Amino acid sequence: MSRPVPYLGDPKNTIEILQKYQFVFRKKYGQNFLIDESVLEKIVRAAGIGPDDFVIEIGPGIGTLTQYLAYHARHVVVAEIDGALLPILEDTLSGYENVTVIREDILKMDIRQLVEEMNDGRPVKVVANLPYYITTPIIMGLLERHDPVESMTVMIQKEVAERMQAGPGTKDYGSLSLAVQYYAEPYIAAYVPQNCFMPRPKVGSAVIRLSLLAEPSVKVSDEKRMFRIIRASFNQRRKTLQNSVSHSPETGVTKEMAAQILEEMGLPAAVRGEALTLAQFARFSDLVAENGT
Ligand code: SAM
Repeated sequence: MSRPVPYLGDPKNTIEILQKYQFVFRKKYGQNFLIDESVLEKIVRAAGIGPDDFVIEIGPGIGTLTQYLAYHARHVVVAEIDGALLPILEDTLSGYENVTVIREDILKMDIRQLVEEMNDGRPVKVVANLPYYITTPIIMGLLERHDPVESMTVMIQKEVAERMQAGPGTKDYGSLSLAVQYYAEPYIAAYVPQNCFMPRPKVGSAVIRLSLLAEPSVKVSDEKRMFRIIRASFNQRRKTLQNSVSHSPETGVTKEMAAQILEEMGLPAAVRGEALTLAQFARFSDLVAENGT
């Protein structure tokens, strides 16, 4: 890959830019900028960015990853909340005509409308080194709204990535795993140590790609009910499914009903939520609906 100019994969150039603009990092915006060339390349590769791709980057910072994306993609739109970064982005991205910078809080952005206007409604790829304080709302918002997104390749806290990819019976398996896997296929593409960022974050990171499914991975009559049941099952992990689901007022399931449904499903009465697959939760939820709550 030929190097973008000014080349921000080199920490020396990042420091120079930060000093030139006397930039002050804002902790509240989760600002940890990438300073490692191999990680930048891994992200672009994991996202599979090619010359036909329209990419939305969340939180470009000083434009380090943006340069790489712009080099490979047809067009890149970046959404950055911190106005202090805009003059810097104008400078670092001046060599790229295929980048649009928007000052916006990603949680307030109408992504569907943006994709309608700028990419004729065709699904886009989302790529980001995410601000960790809002990782889950950003990802779940995109998934639950069914925004026109083909894949999300994002750097997030390592533990969160592992929870997203976890399967039944593991310690990391929980409501986040099930919510993500209902909409997408997760794949952890790389682990990234703290020294690849400036300033160094307190936690380890991972790059995860979520490939969105054309249809949710299981069929269920009422997905909101299913997720209420899933949340209740994992609220108290050590309790049995029947106890945790029947103790949660939001499920409307009695202990007797839970016991009867588990029996019908051929599952042991003392089974815990962590043992059930997404398909089994869907079936459990549908049987609750058939029982009339
Ligand atoms: N992409 C850059 C990089 O890899 O070096 C910066 C990543 S840094 C972890 C997160 C970026 O997201 C920061 O630039 C921060 O200002 C921005 N950000 C934080 N909250 C945001 C929000 N709600 N909407 C858009 N950008 C946000």
